[in-house]
Amino acid sequence: MAEVTYNGLTFEPYITRDAIAEQVKRVAAEIRRDIDPGEIPLFLCVLNGAYIFAADLFRECGIQNAEIAFIRFKSYEGTSSTGKINEVMGLDTDIKGRTVIIIEDIVDTGLTADHLRRKLLEQQPKRVAMATLLFKPDSLKAGEAPEYVGFNIPSKFIIGYGLDLDGLARNLPDIYVLKS
Ligand code: 5GP
Repeated sequence: MAEVTYNGLTFEPYITRDAIAEQVKRVAAEIRRDIDPGEIPLFLCVLNGAYIFAADLFRECGIQNAEIAFIRFKSYEGTSSTGKINEVMGLDTDIKGRTVIIIEDIVDTGLTADHLRRKLLEQQPKRVAMATLLFKPDSLKAGEAPEYVGFNIPSKFIIGYGLDLDGLARNLPDIYVLKS
């Protein structure tokens, strides 16, 4: 795998598509194990970055009766968080008494995740849990650690497999890290 350049920034290969697929499988098995027989969980994909992970994870879970919905926030500009969370697209599905599995691409400060969890809990779901492909534990400022994690990573900027730099690089099948 070669380095890639976007907007004048160079990124080096970090996680291969095979390693991602392996962790998607493991996380899916963990989620499946925690779903009670007969329930219809709602998977809630946080757009935009989580859409590829969500598509792979949702299918890999293989739960016969499961729903998926989408919500959108924006807190990043360039390679750092603005600290402010703007809800761009809200949730219109009733979640009262249901298990909700939030699907995130990456949890960095945890501000987005914490904000979303609080909003969902107001609607009295049975359980809210979060699955994230990537987690930066050293950056966590708010809320709890995600229940299901693909990879714990250091606090570095990542692109690929859905994660962008100003809208670009989401279509890279592997994950890359900003060269220091
Ligand atoms: P948080 O609220 O946890 O700080 O950040 C959540 C959002 O910021 C993620 O869903 C993602 O969109 C963006 N983000 C955080 N870290 C990174 C990163 O390393 N790369 C990219 N491309 N986006 C990130």
